[in-house]
Amino acid sequence: MRFPCPHCNAWGRVRTSERMSPTVSWLYLQCTDLECGHSWRVDAEATVTLSPSAKPCSTVTMPLSPHVRRGVLARMLDLLPNGNHTSPQPRNADLFDDDATAGVPRPSG
Ligand SMILES: [Zn+2]
Repeated sequence: MRFPCPHCNAWGRVRTSERMSPTVSWLYLQCTDLECGHSWRVDAEATVTLSPSAKPCSTVTMPLSPHVRRGVLARMLDLLPNGNHTSPQPRNADLFDDDATAGVPRPSG
């Protein structure tokens, strides 16, 4: 991994690194231009998931990139059941139709 020197723009070389957390590492760099001689630290942080891990660590929380989030939502929507519902037609019984009122007690008198 190379980074340009902030002062002379020559490439810097990583001399050593320190892992501060599962997502943060400090990289110590040295300019390759001997006349410059600058050395500096780069704080590198994993910030966004571009492709989910097949071996996820429960302590690592990294947000999904927007394009991955859209893909996950699209897959979830595809798995949902179809939203087209059909309702049975309501049946309005004709009070004067003997078939429709069969079994319904009739008022006497
Ligand atoms: Zn330099």
